[in-house]
Amino acid sequence: MRIISRDQHCISRRSISPNALRVLYRLRDAGFAAYLVGGAVRDLLLGRNPKDFDVATDATPDQLKQLFRNCRLIGRRFRLAHIVFGQEIIEVATFRANDDDGSGDRKVHDGGLLLRDNVYGSIEDDAIRRDFTTNALYYAISDFSVRDYIGGFEDVQQRVLRLIGDPEQRYREDPVRMLRAIRLSAKLEFAIEEATAEPIARLAGLLAEVAPARLFEETLKLFLSGHAVASFEGLERFGLLDMLLPQVVEALRSNRNGALRRVLIEGLRSTDARVEADESVSPAFLFALLLWPAYCRALAVLQSQGMSLEEAQQRAADRVTLNQMQTIALPRRFSLPMREIWLMQPRFSTRQRKRVFRLLAHPRFRAAYDFMMLRQVVSDEHAADMAFWREVQQKSGDELAEIFGPGGGAVEGEAPPRRRGRRRLTITVDPE
Ligand code: ATP
Ligand code: MG
Repeated sequence: MRIISRDQHCISRRSISPNALRVLYRLRDAGFAAYLVGGAVRDLLLGRNPKDFDVATDATPDQLKQLFRNCRLIGRRFRLAHIVFGQEIIEVATFRANDDDGSGDRKVHDGGLLLRDNVYGSIEDDAIRRDFTTNALYYAISDFSVRDYIGGFEDVQQRVLRLIGDPEQRYREDPVRMLRAIRLSAKLEFAIEEATAEPIARLAGLLAEVAPARLFEETLKLFLSGHAVASFEGLERFGLLDMLLPQVVEALRSNRNGALRRVLIEGLRSTDARVEADESVSPAFLFALLLWPAYCRALAVLQSQGMSLEEAQQRAADRVTLNQMQTIALPRRFSLPMREIWLMQPRFSTRQRKRVFRLLAHPRFRAAYDFMMLRQVVSDEHAADMAFWREVQQKSGDELAEIFGPGGGAVEGEAPPRRRGRRRLTITVDPE
């Protein structure tokens, strides 16, 4: 074990959440071991603001319950304590080991997948069951030192992600670690150490064993943490995208002019910009974007078979959503608005008074409009439409009435030529 004393590292108590400090001091005063651990220590060493502060201790969940009034015990797989301070929750976990101690508490399935791991252990046990060396550093409240059991401090300095133990075995235990490698390397701009990177493409298929609900959570973290473009490119490079969004990979491959890829990357870039600016991005909008290439492809195929736009839209949305559910469990409260965003896209080419008002009043108008703007960045095909909608939104009700005239109808001069025959979204996708 290496002890990095207070004068050898940059972590100051001023950058630690006051509530986390409160928890640490209370534990220490009650005679328990108390450490800040995980991503927070890593982020503080890098001079970054941690997203959340996790605490590790030798106190058991029952002892925690007695020590903190604002304590909630949670977790089926492993009992954790949440110490609740209004909006902020400090997660406190008892040191645990992954070693099978013969108690039968640890169950491993044939493939090596970890099903239950609730065996308490020492701090060293707790360190080696974590994923990357950089995530296994402990900041001790007793002397403000950092405790390093497996070389994580050095790896933070070198900016490398290194899996603890045998990489292949660790991925087999929990395939989500492959996604975490990509996500953390995108977020921290860390290299993935060779032995840690090597098995990923080979073992990507193991993601099929992961619960779709967990993959949904992980996908949100991949794409809504401000590093969506880098995450996407990492997933692609390691063959993980084929497991996560197979229909999208297929659609991008068949779209030879690369337009769908440009929309997707541009959208992820703007998602990152919004996160950076502290603006929200809804999961529905994110999935509308991620699955847009697949939706466009399905739509093009169905229309080439002679289906009307309206029907093809419904069918394409159904098909893409249903297929996607096999890997990522997208809750209906997100998949429904996602579909609405898609289905509203062709409605932006309307100029008819009644339709304009109806679209403006739609609860999903803003999201659908933002989505249209995104598409617009890579092709100016809809420039006139967008100019129209930008203008319309800035007008008051009276001004709008003026534009459309008392009798209603279309905007004079600006009305697009009446379309003949079948309406289409103009997207070039090679049919299946
Ligand atoms: P961030 O919060 O910035 O996304 P993090 O490293 O803090 O990154 P969390 O998901 O908050 O990630 O997990 C907290 C800690 O729990 C990690 O630092 C790591 O030590 C441990 N951990 C999380 N997921 C796993 C896993 N799948 N296998 C082993 N250890 C894990
Ligand atoms: Mg964290």
